[in-house]
Amino acid sequence: MTQSTAIVWLRRDLRLADNPALRYAAEHAARVLPVFIHAPDEEAPWQPGAASNWWLHHSLLALSDDLKAAGSKLVIRNGPTLQALRTLIDETNATLVVWNRLYDPAVIKRDKQIKAALRDNNVEARSFNGYLLAEPWTVETKAGGPYKVYTPFWKSIRPRLDQLHPEAAPDLPPAPRVASDKLDALNLLPSLGWADGFHDHWTPGATGAHDKLDRFLEDAVHRYPDGRNIPARQDTSRLSPHLHFGEISPREVLARVREHNAADSRPGANKGAEKFLSELAWREFAHHLLYHFPETLEQPLNPRFKDFEWLWDTDDLPAWQRGDTGIPVVDAGMRELWQTGYMHNRVRMIVGSLLTKNLRTHWLQGARWFWDTLVDANLANNTLGWQWIAGCGADAAPYFRIFNPVTQGEKFDADGDYVRRFVPELADRSNKHLHQPTEAAIIDLKRSRQTALTAYDVVKA
Ligand SMILES: Cc1cc2nc3c(=O)[nH]c(=O)nc-3n(C[C@H](O)[C@H](O)[C@H](O)COP(=O)(O)OP(=O)(O)OC[C@H]3O[C@@H](n4cnc5c(N)ncnc54)[C@H](O)[C@@H]3O)c2cc1C
Repeated sequence: MTQSTAIVWLRRDLRLADNPALRYAAEHAARVLPVFIHAPDEEAPWQPGAASNWWLHHSLLALSDDLKAAGSKLVIRNGPTLQALRTLIDETNATLVVWNRLYDPAVIKRDKQIKAALRDNNVEARSFNGYLLAEPWTVETKAGGPYKVYTPFWKSIRPRLDQLHPEAAPDLPPAPRVASDKLDALNLLPSLGWADGFHDHWTPGATGAHDKLDRFLEDAVHRYPDGRNIPARQDTSRLSPHLHFGEISPREVLARVREHNAADSRPGANKGAEKFLSELAWREFAHHLLYHFPETLEQPLNPRFKDFEWLWDTDDLPAWQRGDTGIPVVDAGMRELWQTGYMHNRVRMIVGSLLTKNLRTHWLQGARWFWDTLVDANLANNTLGWQWIAGCGADAAPYFRIFNPVTQGEKFDADGDYVRRFVPELADRSNKHLHQPTEAAIIDLKRSRQTALTAYDVVKA
């Protein structure tokens, strides 16, 4: 090993284990500087929202502790990124800069420019895959080209998963002594107390991520195929924000599920584990689509919806955002989001269907609200989710499939626990009436459904 210094530019890979960039640096340099550079403008127009920033603050704290315990140190700097990297290179005489790849269009463009600029300055710049099980350009249909349908995509990547194994955290060489900005100076925490309750639900950082996965495997994986649809229960993993920030890698999740499953004799365990991996693969599919169709950030993947007349600013939008629509399961979902930074997947679909179909509001309005309020806000997953529910995306729910929030509530929240938890003013209603719209409901479900179907006739024609 040379006496060289390497900079590890950490982004959404806030962990020590199974971090290929960190490992490469540790194996190729005598000193390794882990750095986080805050440059949200470089992700515009989709710079991280308020809930993501809350998470990031706490995740950086956790990472800083983990690095300290490993004998290293996290350095924080403000962007612009290239400028910050050049300054650090000058301060440390680093000859190598490494990072793990991301797939959002603005980030790809920025990273390419940075790689070229560093190489022009005779600095070795290398990137790795630490974020996905299957990078977008490694998967293609038999005819060539990207997949637009999930099931064949899943079938095509499933066999390779058995070959994937995570790497342990490397022994870290010491960090060169350079100054760090203060985390608080990044101003990531909201000024209002809105996120104070998030700590009751979340522990950002790698330890929190592994605890969530262990709890899921112990308590819920064997029930997952059905349990994943019941919003009152904790039968899903709640790993989404941890995966988004890379506090745990998908390879680590995969290996842990495999290991647990091999020793799990409970009925349903195999089926549950396989179903869980297939859901994890939706994350892969979403990144595949965003990489190959970057225009879908603003435009529907299905061109037939290009001229569909969505509404933009409606009086109903604030009521939907506040969880004040008078439709119990919808209000429960929107309030869960506001109070916890998360919403159960089944309810994301129900509130999304109401917004884009009954209220005929543009799916981007929903996507933007989620973007600001979800702790797991992820450009690929959010875009796929919204286009799927609006009926205009890849492999989407057909537009004419309009979720009825009353029957959805009755089916998936039959005991009413979810609605009663988040809409306490309805707690005294009988189970029979719990899911019926209140007198103050902002919309007539039957009539608005009909109007939506009529609007769809234009697309069909
Ligand atoms: C309108 C809408 C918007 C969404 N926005 C986001 C978002 O911004 N960020 C986000 O991570 N997910 C999003 N999802 C997908 C899904 O709702 C969440 O990933 C899931 O609820 C997270 O909970 P979990 O970790 O307990 O999931 P689990 O059921 O435990 O699944 C494990 C992991 O698989 C992945 N996954 C599961 N379902 C999906 C899916 N449908 N699409 C993509 N990945 C999936 C996630 O990484 C998840 O953590 C959205 C879905 C809809 C319908």
